[in-house]
Amino acid sequence: MQMLIAGNWVNSSSRESIAVLNPYDNTEIDSVPRATASDIDRALAFAHQGAQRMRKIPGYERYQILMKAARLLQERAEDFARTITIEEGKVLAESRVEVSRAVETIIGSAEEAKRLGSEVVPLDGAPGTGNRFGFTLRIPCGVVLAITPFNFPLNLVCHKVGPALAAGNSVICKPASDTPLSCLKFAKVLLDAGLSPEGIQVITGSGGDIGDQLAGDPRVRKITFTGSREVGDRICRTAGIKKVTMELGSNSPVIVLPDADLDKAAQAITASGYANAGQVCISAQRILIDRKVYGGLLEALKPKVAALTTGNPLDENVKVGPMVREKDAVRVEEWVKQAAEGGAQVHGGGRHGAFYTPAIVSDVKPDMRVSCDELFGPAVALTPVETIDEAITLANQTNYGLSAAIFTENLDNAMRFAREVDSGNIHINWGTQWRADLMPYGGVKESGFGKEGPKYAVQEMTELKMVVMHLR
Ligand code: NAP
Repeated sequence: MQMLIAGNWVNSSSRESIAVLNPYDNTEIDSVPRATASDIDRALAFAHQGAQRMRKIPGYERYQILMKAARLLQERAEDFARTITIEEGKVLAESRVEVSRAVETIIGSAEEAKRLGSEVVPLDGAPGTGNRFGFTLRIPCGVVLAITPFNFPLNLVCHKVGPALAAGNSVICKPASDTPLSCLKFAKVLLDAGLSPEGIQVITGSGGDIGDQLAGDPRVRKITFTGSREVGDRICRTAGIKKVTMELGSNSPVIVLPDADLDKAAQAITASGYANAGQVCISAQRILIDRKVYGGLLEALKPKVAALTTGNPLDENVKVGPMVREKDAVRVEEWVKQAAEGGAQVHGGGRHGAFYTPAIVSDVKPDMRVSCDELFGPAVALTPVETIDEAITLANQTNYGLSAAIFTENLDNAMRFAREVDSGNIHINWGTQWRADLMPYGGVKESGFGKEGPKYAVQEMTELKMVVMHLR
């Protein structure tokens, strides 16, 4: 496919190209151009100028464009689902869910385009303010740079582009090089829905090569990034003085107390730990189980995980597809092997190519990599604990804080967990991997800062101005 710069679809003829591979069999399904420094400069100049036009489009018109985009996305849902599956590797059923969530994300964003209100500030409450009247105005940031990861190549683009457009910005998207096709197709949807070309541009190219030029440019006023902690750290350092939202990684904990419904916990851990071959930022990873029910939970989990068949993600019977790259499956294999060498037990597992068979790793010590680093693969790490105090201490013993869950019937323990565990999302009696696209979503600590969810993201995509009228 071609990239979209200054309203033109740009091909690879005078540039290098990047092959887009199907992770299932490594066949080349398409290619995209590798943007040059002058491509990027052209896109930045066009967006900078275009931002002035974008901010003048009335909210109702922005609402109509986004609603039409949601309708078109819905009409093209099956094509999008297949595109996600062949470029990313997740099973078709999960890709279909991603598309329907993306439709909701865009509808939610459209609604926010009509709600960018302001507030009267009671200045007379301050001493000596005299006859003054104050109110706020919410204005677009200008140029928004959206950098997205491979694992939700459509919905995470929508979570950035939808609110940015709802707020009246001009957007430049830089999708992951492994999965640029869904983003490019979505840009086409936006243009078909009547968005002016100033609203959306998509630049393809390796983040390592072009990221600094994009993130460091002063014409960009807002960066919204989803991806790894390491790249997020670099972007923050390069960005300089501009607004930044960071949606980074995690190694999400799940606590199981003795009064938990073990079958429900096993069902939720299976749903939370292995979807998209574990490549979800809020995947359940560290399962901290009260020793009294440790054996029971392990036995409840085993058949559920064993039933997760692997294979071609286009096959409707397959439950888990390949990882996005073979090197990621190799990493999971190595970390599980290291845990086994340190005394952990491995149930399932094994690698062939980019596939890693879903595994349960039990008797894991908290300092093993399968527990203390972000695994981002189809395995969970089980650790026994003696008390809820120990469980909460271990849950917090990480630099991450994106999602955390507890299974208990005791309201006091559930509330204590909600208050004391440092995490942006807390789940009581379900796993860590649950998200409604309208809810505020984001991490604490090194899982990032700023919130997504259209209502919250439009706040991040706008600046608040204060207007004071000095009356006679
Ligand atoms: P990644 O390697 O950090 O890449 C993310 C994006 O950043 C890609 O578009 C990548 O481009 C780009 N990039 C790479 N180097 C860059 C640089 N120096 N400057 C600017 N951009 C650069 O992450 P990933 O492997 O795609 O995704 C997995 C990670 O994302 C995991 O850590 C996961 O937890 C996290 N994640 C977080 C959330 C959340 O909501 N918190 C959601 C999903 C995923 P290239 O592809 O061209 O390298």
